[in-house]
Amino acid sequence: MTKLGSISGNHLSITCKVCGYNTLLAVKPLIERLGWEARLTDVVPNLRCSSCKAKGQVTFQIVFVGGSGEALLGGKATKEPKPTGRLSG
Ligand SMILES: [Zn+2]
Repeated sequence: MTKLGSISGNHLSITCKVCGYNTLLAVKPLIERLGWEARLTDVVPNLRCSSCKAKGQVTFQIVFVGGSGEALLGGKATKEPKPTGRLSG
């Protein structure tokens, strides 16, 4: 089974089965707390939903956040320039 150490650069997309709360969790801090040998199957059941506080009621997905993880977490919206000018005729 997947060890935290093998996905140290990734994030976990956590979804609460109770309230539907979804969040991205970096793997690095988990490793610092639990060690490189900790397995996902051991870690995930101990996660607590930060919204409804339900424990062990989450599903997870490993997601790769390349480069700066901030980009994905920040959720920047790009503004598209509005077309100006008029049509006549
Ligand atoms: Zn929840």
